[in-house]
Amino acid sequence: MQRRILFLALLFLVLFSPEALAATQVRLFGYDQKRGAVVVYLSKALPWRTLRLSQRDRFVVDLPKSVYLGSTSQLSAIPGTNVASVRIGQFEPDTVRIVLDLKSPNTFPVELETVSKDLVRVVIRTGGQMAQSGTKNDEKEVKVPSPPATFNIEQVELRGDEVIVHSKEKLAASVNRFNTPPRVVIDFEKAGLLPAMRNKTLRGGKNIRSVRLLEENERAKLVIELAHRDAKVDVSAGTTVWRATISRSKPVGESGLFLRRQGKGWQMVLKADDEVSFKIGRLSGNDRLYLDVTGGSFNLPRDSVYVDNGIIARVRVGTQDEKTTRLVMDLDQPVKHTVKLASDRRSILIGISPDAFEEKVTVDPGHGGRDQGARGRFLKEKDVNLQVALRVQRLMEQSGINVQLTRSKDVEVMLRPRVGMGDNNDSDVFVSIHANSFSNPGVRGIETYYYNPTSLPLAKAVHSHLVRTLKRPDRGVHRNNFVVVKYNKMPACLVEIGYLSNSEDEALLASKVYQEKAASAITAGVKDFLRDRGPRQ
Ligand SMILES: [Zn+2]
Repeated sequence: MQRRILFLALLFLVLFSPEALAATQVRLFGYDQKRGAVVVYLSKALPWRTLRLSQRDRFVVDLPKSVYLGSTSQLSAIPGTNVASVRIGQFEPDTVRIVLDLKSPNTFPVELETVSKDLVRVVIRTGGQMAQSGTKNDEKEVKVPSPPATFNIEQVELRGDEVIVHSKEKLAASVNRFNTPPRVVIDFEKAGLLPAMRNKTLRGGKNIRSVRLLEENERAKLVIELAHRDAKVDVSAGTTVWRATISRSKPVGESGLFLRRQGKGWQMVLKADDEVSFKIGRLSGNDRLYLDVTGGSFNLPRDSVYVDNGIIARVRVGTQDEKTTRLVMDLDQPVKHTVKLASDRRSILIGISPDAFEEKVTVDPGHGGRDQGARGRFLKEKDVNLQVALRVQRLMEQSGINVQLTRSKDVEVMLRPRVGMGDNNDSDVFVSIHANSFSNPGVRGIETYYYNPTSLPLAKAVHSHLVRTLKRPDRGVHRNNFVVVKYNKMPACLVEIGYLSNSEDEALLASKVYQEKAASAITAGVKDFLRDRGPRQ
């Protein structure tokens, strides 16, 4: 009998990505009849480990640090062995797993052979005959039994999206589905094709691109190329007529992956056409999130979606197995995530926002209590300072900044304790809010003070926002040894948001609109400073 090397598998197109290039790639996977072994060709040698999940009658080989760039693929039963099926897929992001489903518990020798500089093969010696439980099969001992008598399939028709196979005896078929490209392979055991039918290709149907008729290894084989990835295959077997009907799964309407801004982060919505369940988790530390979605189908791109929104670099779509789609989100920065299933169970909502450390700001409303600060004709400085500080607190908290006030009501607080509060809180920034007074009532406008040179960028950022937003005269950024800017461990500045001794400024300082504008300018300046400074080490 023929003992050609026969691979009942596909050579997968390798979609190169930098990661994939770095990892060992699975080039080819199949059953090698000559060797009596399941063979996996790899781009380079790697250590492998075998696991035997005997309770579940599975023999598992893991290939660490390797990638399999196809979707999960499957071989049907290996005749003459107790191997019911063989599957290969990306089990973990860096591990390819080969699973042999067994009819009874068994182990197989696994060997690594070098084929060439760039090609090695993992050989799982399953044998080609029924392996005795617990015994090893050696290649030399492999004897493939003579095939049982076969009979010929009489006719194969393609009527629209229906494949009809006529035979004299009842056909036993194994149906294997592949996703890349979408394809169904049907093996008819113990059946052959009439010579005139061999290697014929039938065309037609809305959901079928083509049907190839093959005879291999004493089996008749139909390879049905599907027009759509979501095509559904229904099979019915009668005594002399066997049918496969290819239909489109439920229309995939609004399904897909949608991204929208949500607060400081993004919301990713995955809409399916049917109810789904999911699992979410992290891969390799903090820089990747995965979402495994089971059930439903989606309009999803095959490869990467580059998002590049500063938080999510890209989303990669892959297939875990027949029922499970895996989305891997490559992240640009540490994030926190939330996830929930919509009430109709068809949409998964994932919130992704920067987890960064919370930035902390101490806001210091000048004066308070008995210390009233500057006096205008109507206003006391301590009140204006507190009103603006409370607005700053609200605005910063809306931006996710943790804000501490040195006082939140009209109480007296000494200067050094104010500085101490910022230090104890380990704040990133200290901002003291004041309003000014001068003997010359004509003097008006904005001034900002700092002391330590490291505080200058903060003072400039806040000052420029104040001048731009409040549209008052720019009286400059100055160095001064005020206690609340001198002794701080973190960058600190003191702003004078107007002159209470100037009637025009006082009228503005009394207005909620001006107070809110001042608060938003201070907030924007601090945020600019924090952004330019980058994440805290
Ligand atoms: Zn003051």
